[in-house]
Amino acid sequence: MRFEAENSRDRTDYFDLLDRQISRCSRNGTVLGLLIARVQRIRDINLTFGYEVGDELLAEVEAKLEQILRPTDIVARIGDNEFAMVLPEIRNQGHAILAANRIVQEFFEPLRLEQQALQMKVVVGVAVTPDHGADAEALMKSADQAVVQARTAPDRYAVHSSGVERASTKTLTLERQIEQALDNDELVLAFQPKIDLSSASVSGAEALIRWRTGSGELVSPASFIPVVEQSDLILPLTVWVLNTAMRQAATYRTLVPGFSVAVNLSPALLLSRDIIDAAEGAASIWGVPPGHVVLEVTEGAMMVDPERSLEILDQLHEIGFRLSIDDFGTGHSSLAYLQQLPVHELKVDQTFVLGMERDARNAAIVRTAIDIGHNFDLKVVAEGIETGAALDHLVALGCDYGQGYYISKPLLGEEFQSWLGTAPWASEFSTVGGPNSTDKPLVD
Ligand code: C2E
Ligand code: MG
Ligand code: MG
Repeated sequence: MRFEAENSRDRTDYFDLLDRQISRCSRNGTVLGLLIARVQRIRDINLTFGYEVGDELLAEVEAKLEQILRPTDIVARIGDNEFAMVLPEIRNQGHAILAANRIVQEFFEPLRLEQQALQMKVVVGVAVTPDHGADAEALMKSADQAVVQARTAPDRYAVHSSGVERASTKTLTLERQIEQALDNDELVLAFQPKIDLSSASVSGAEALIRWRTGSGELVSPASFIPVVEQSDLILPLTVWVLNTAMRQAATYRTLVPGFSVAVNLSPALLLSRDIIDAAEGAASIWGVPPGHVVLEVTEGAMMVDPERSLEILDQLHEIGFRLSIDDFGTGHSSLAYLQQLPVHELKVDQTFVLGMERDARNAAIVRTAIDIGHNFDLKVVAEGIETGAALDHLVALGCDYGQGYYISKPLLGEEFQSWLGTAPWASEFSTVGGPNSTDKPLVD
């Protein structure tokens, strides 16, 4: 039996059926298990092979699920990449776990589709009556929350546990909102200029994501990137950022020769080759030389799996991308490890730069970071320059590049483009003592 639960009528039918099955099980003293399987990487497959292949693949997944389960179990597609499975009249939770485990195992084998072997990852959330819900609505919610846990579970399945309920509902909602924002073009990039401190000219900009909600409000990445980073949405989101940043950079490059664009990469992206294909693909589509693309990663990112990350970074470096260590000074990487990294620049964390005028210890950290960078033959960027005094101080310390509100806040596309043409700060910079800056035009 099968339901397309995407429209509301099907949904009501499905919930009715689930409620009837739950009542039957409770009458005859058996347990009902509800599994939700989420197929990950389907977006990548859609992007790489097209939606037709993605659809065929989901049909195959559904057939395989039906084949794995008993004939009396009910499989329903409940979302773009999710299936719910009702297991009526089982003896206890253990049977639902066995089924979840079997599903995960079966999908370790790649699915074959027209000569291609497609490897997918399936995670399964488990909920059972009456412990995790006494009606369809409650049970679905519990299984949904279990799927979120399953994503990071070593066995790829998880049984609902009530303690995580509140946090995960919030997480789940936010993740869905961002997924929709991606589909509905509600994400935008702001660009914050990066200035070459020795010549007082614009060398490039960092692309920073924002979510423009339906009501026009701009939501900061700090409130959604940490959630997206924990999900498989981070890759499609980054593919979007890379492509959008490079598309816009292609225009800015015509205004500012040598303009480079920086994009932030989340830690989880350094664990798989996907990011290499994504970055290389975007650079080639938009005709931006990899040497003018900076990929920013934090020290922490490399600590998740140092060996694997090093491999990925080496390959990005070989292609010619420039790599930057973001938020330098806040992580725990050893100098021995840093020295092995194929990076080109260090970005001193803004907390030290923000505090350097008030606190001599912060100023000492900034000075030390600049020395470390230069001793390793790296360029050093200071972020968080909010005052002329800080800018002046950094120039005196020999810092190579600077970013901060004093120069400009991150600006949305058109605003940034007009800033490039009219940037007023060059003259202010010359008054705070920047070398060679007096008559230097900001944009060649
Ligand atoms: P980040 O990469 O360290 O970016 C610098 C942050 O400092 C930005 O915040 C920027 O707006 C802010 N900033 C710049 N100058 C100043 C200043 O003078 N004073 C102060 N107080 N702040 C300044 P934003 O845009 O809110 O981004 C926050 C973080 O979100 C970023 O930190 C980055 O880690 C993450 N992020 C942003 N966009 C992306 C993205 O596309 N992908 C990923 N994975 N992470 C992103
Ligand atoms: Mg950054
Ligand atoms: Mg930073």
